[in-house]
Amino acid sequence: MNKKMKIIPIFVPHVGCKNDCVFCNQKTITGKGTVRVNSQYAIDIVEEFKKTIDENTYTEIAFFGGSFTAIDIELQEELLKVGKYYKDNGVIQRIRMSTRPDAISKEILNLQKKYSVDIIELGIQSLDNEVLKTSNRGHTRQDSENASKLIKEYGFTLGHQVMPGLPGSSIEKDMKTCIDSIAMKPDIVRIYPTLIIKDTELLNMYECGLYKPLTLEEAVDLTAFIYSKYMTNNINVIRIGLQNTDSINEGADVVGGPFHPAFRQLVEEKIFLNSMMKVMKHKNLNNKSITILADNKIISELVGQNKANSIKLKNTFNIKNISFSNSKTENLIEIYDGDIKLGSFLKTNIYENYLNGNKIGV
Ligand code: SF4
Repeated sequence: MNKKMKIIPIFVPHVGCKNDCVFCNQKTITGKGTVRVNSQYAIDIVEEFKKTIDENTYTEIAFFGGSFTAIDIELQEELLKVGKYYKDNGVIQRIRMSTRPDAISKEILNLQKKYSVDIIELGIQSLDNEVLKTSNRGHTRQDSENASKLIKEYGFTLGHQVMPGLPGSSIEKDMKTCIDSIAMKPDIVRIYPTLIIKDTELLNMYECGLYKPLTLEEAVDLTAFIYSKYMTNNINVIRIGLQNTDSINEGADVVGGPFHPAFRQLVEEKIFLNSMMKVMKHKNLNNKSITILADNKIISELVGQNKANSIKLKNTFNIKNISFSNSKTENLIEIYDGDIKLGSFLKTNIYENYLNGNKIGV
C-alpha cells in the first residue's frame, strides 16, 4: 500500500538573511509574521502534526521560509537536533531545507550530514548575474554552481528553485537559466513565477515603472517550456507557483504579477492543448463534430478550466462540437472525426511535444 506523504513545515522567516531580495517579504510568504525560532518552536510544530500521523504516513520535516544554512550555527544545531531526534525515533522519515547558494560550504554540509538531513533546496532563482544583481540576491551564478556541485558530492538530494520573470530578466534569460540549471543535475525543482508582494522593493520598482511583471499568459507559456524541459530531462518538478495561502492571494498580499490560484493546472492544460493542436493542425475540421478519447483522470485537463482548451480548439479550427469521453487506455489520447481517427498522442510524450518546434508565446 502506498504511504501518504506529509510535510511538517517549520518556517524560519527571514532568520539568516543578510540582505533583502527585492521580491521577498518573507514574513508574508511564510504567513507567519514575526516568530521566535528555537527548538521549542520546532517541537511544538512537530508535536501538533504528530496527532495526524499514522503508520501509513511518510513524513518529512521541512525547514522552509528563510536561508536555513545562513542562520547562526548554534540555532541551526538546535533546530537540527530536533529534526534528528524525530527521525531517529521514526516519527519522521526525512529532513529537508531551503537555503541560499552562498550559504553552502563543506563545514555547513558536514553539519547537515551529522544531523541526517536528506534534501537541500537552493534558491538559485536565476543564473544570470545581472538579474541576480537587479534582484539584490547578494550571490552570483558561480555560487549556485559551486553549491550544487558540493551538495551532489556530499550525496544530498539537490533541489533548485527558479523564479522566471525577475527584474532585468527576459524570456530568453529565463529559458537559459532552466537549461543551465539542468546541467547542474538537480533531482527536484520548484518553479515560482515572480509575483509582486506588499511591502517589498519590487512593489516600489513596479510603481515607479522600473519593473514590468510577466502577464499571466506569458508566465504560463514560459513555465510550460521550463516545466517541459525539466520533465524531459527526468527532473521532478515538485511545485509550480507560489503556495496559495490566506496571505498569498490576489487582493491580499499579492498586488501584481501572474498570480492564479490553480497556476500549475493552467500550465498542464497548456501543454495538453499543444499536443491536441498538433494532431488537428492541417486537417479540415470545419463544422465537424470531434470526439477526444482519454482516461477519465485527465479529461478535466484536456477540457481546461472554464472549458478554455475546448473553446480554443473550436475557435481555431471552426469545429462545430467537441466531446470528451472516457477510454480504457491510460496513457493514450485519441482524436476522432466521427469514425475517422485523426491521430493520437501519448500522455508521457506531451512535454516532448511541447518543446518540439514550439515557440514561447504560441
Ligand atoms: S534570501 Fe530568501 S528569505 Fe532571504 S530575503 Fe532573499 S528570498 Fe527572502
